[in-house]
Amino acid sequence: RTVYVNGEYLPESEASISIFDRGFLFADAVYEVTSVLDGKLIDFEGHAVRLKRSLDELDIVQPCSMDELLEIHRKLVELNGIDEGLVYLQVTRGSDGDRDFVFPAADTKPSLVLFTQNKPGLADSPAAQKGAKIISIDDIRWGRRDIKTVQLLYPSMGKMMAKKAGCDDAWLVEDGYVTEGTSNNAYFVKNGKIVTRPLSNDILHGITRKAVLRMAAEAQMEIEERLFTIDEAKEADEAFTTSASAFVMPVVEIDGVALGDGTPGPIAKRLREIYLDESRKAAI
Ligand code: PLP
Repeated sequence: RTVYVNGEYLPESEASISIFDRGFLFADAVYEVTSVLDGKLIDFEGHAVRLKRSLDELDIVQPCSMDELLEIHRKLVELNGIDEGLVYLQVTRGSDGDRDFVFPAADTKPSLVLFTQNKPGLADSPAAQKGAKIISIDDIRWGRRDIKTVQLLYPSMGKMMAKKAGCDDAWLVEDGYVTEGTSNNAYFVKNGKIVTRPLSNDILHGITRKAVLRMAAEAQMEIEERLFTIDEAKEADEAFTTSASAFVMPVVEIDGVALGDGTPGPIAKRLREIYLDESRKAAI
């Protein structure tokens, strides 16, 4: 695999980052994951705009222009022959060669790393045909979940708790209300109406969420953005999650309670189809 590190395209075995890099020492870094279908990038602009926002919120220097970012994405997809898969991008605050809680000087060069993940069959995923089983767990993450930082230890632990319980993923619950999934936004459907939590600092502003809600509205589906409890979701007709890496993923079980007939629901299936179809057409 060829990867990109700070201006260079290298074999992954030759790529390196300083041990003093603040991404490594402090998780002082942000990231984006963009999916690739038919060798093209899905919603690149959405991810680039959110990246800029994450960087601005943390006063991390933008490592390069949006055009350069697009070029790097495209070149890696081409060099690695990716037809279906993901491009992972990370920007860290870099380092001035030592460990210090205080940020280094504002002109410190950020680190920029990108790599691809080849995922043949991403669109026709068997997991999406089966649907996901979810457990609910406490949301104990920090209060700026709208910034896409690499502080992913708790979401990663949540995924492990789900696996241990024989499930696929976890939904996070704070003050009695569902925030989001470990790495996706959460929705349920009751009597034809799609319900999802409104945007705030409590959740990541999903690029897929925005696209799917737009497409749902265009398809005349009813949408309500409001807080909801895990019990409401358990009593739903169906549920699903959205993310750049899994698109629209039907949810078939929450905390051991089957939703509907326990198979992916019609609205989730239809939204997945619409999303894949429209995204492929708009891919660059
Ligand atoms: N929420 C969290 C916590 C995430 O980590 C992600 C994606 O990684 C999402 C939501 C979905 O965002 P997107 O659709 O931009 O991938």
